[in-house]
Amino acid sequence: MIAPETLPDARGRFGDFGGVYVPETLMTALEELGAAYEKARTDPAYQTELRHHLKEFCGRPTELYFAERLTEHVGGAKIYFKREDMLHTGAHKINNALGQALLARRMGKRRIIAETGAGQHGVATAAVSAKFGFECVVYMGSVDMERQALNVFRMRLMGAEVRGVDAGQKTLKEAVNEAMRDWVTNVRSTHYILGTAYGAHPYPMMVREFHRIIGREAKEQILAREGRLPDELVACVGGGSNAIGLFFEFLPDTHVRMWGVEAGGRGIRRGEHAARFEGGRLGVLQGCKTFILQDGDGQIEGTHSVSAGLDYAAVGPEHAFYREKGRIEFTYATDDEVLETFQLCSRLEGIIPALESTHALVHGIKRARELGKGKVVLVNLSGRGDKDVQQVAAILGNKA
Ligand SMILES: *Cc1c(COP(=O)(O)O)cnc(C)c1O
Repeated sequence: MIAPETLPDARGRFGDFGGVYVPETLMTALEELGAAYEKARTDPAYQTELRHHLKEFCGRPTELYFAERLTEHVGGAKIYFKREDMLHTGAHKINNALGQALLARRMGKRRIIAETGAGQHGVATAAVSAKFGFECVVYMGSVDMERQALNVFRMRLMGAEVRGVDAGQKTLKEAVNEAMRDWVTNVRSTHYILGTAYGAHPYPMMVREFHRIIGREAKEQILAREGRLPDELVACVGGGSNAIGLFFEFLPDTHVRMWGVEAGGRGIRRGEHAARFEGGRLGVLQGCKTFILQDGDGQIEGTHSVSAGLDYAAVGPEHAFYREKGRIEFTYATDDEVLETFQLCSRLEGIIPALESTHALVHGIKRARELGKGKVVLVNLSGRGDKDVQQVAAILGNKA
């Protein structure tokens, strides 16, 4: 296996994937960002500051939790949760938002912009912007604003301006376009906190580095708990940040099997899902080369998922790379499976998982059953489901 630390290469590529595909006007900004990040990464003062706020503001380390009743119910491998849902603002997103906010401060920026889908990244960005005194603008598709009205209110409470985007499908992809447009215009004063391991270099690498703490902690915790590494890891994949954050430290441990779970929506039919590795092809979208859901003419296809956070037509380039290498395997969970497991986990564990994280849980349960007793499956619980309860209540109500 290639040494994971050596990727991406100097041109931001993970093998055939990744790179920098942006308007000429953003090249300088991306180069500056890459250089500033490289300087910060190797600066002990920055690392100390980051560690301090991760603990004091975000609540790290997060627990590794043995899901005892769920394990008993399934009757197979032990199921552990990495509790990223316990972090401040409710999901793993704050690891990255904090790291980038500290970087923006070092770079002398005054203004922060971000895109958001489910609203979790917007909330995390609004929180760090309030904490460090940045002006903050969050772009969000108007369909997502409706699905996640509570998160819109949380962002506004923390002083962010939420700008609705009415173009196209009115979801995450359009919000990213608007954020990039803003950045091109205001690049001198503004840092763009991109919310996942996606986009032009250095974002996929930088966001991965901010989330590596998930896998570092998990590895130490499972070794302390079980005296060995887990047999399998499972994480949901939107852009891919919580998944690569968990997986990265385990890449050299080739006997640990890894699963990324995409959104199967209403099933793998055109426009009904967001499983890029099921129905996607290689292409370029919003800064990088990767697997994309597109039609024969290269037009981006519509997507659907019950969870706004996984509802995106492209997947992070590093995942495409490790899939090609056979190191990370991919599957999907459907809306129906997710809604059932959302209730099961809540009832058996007293933990309401985010709909995104529930995708991972669906497959984690399947694998635990197939592996049987004596094995260990570790599922990344990327976020909590408080933001989703209204939506689920409406869906289940309609079914009754
Ligand atoms: C945003 C989000 C995701 C999807 O994003 P990744 O970058 O793929 O991790 C998953 N889970 C939760 C709770 C989220 O908020």
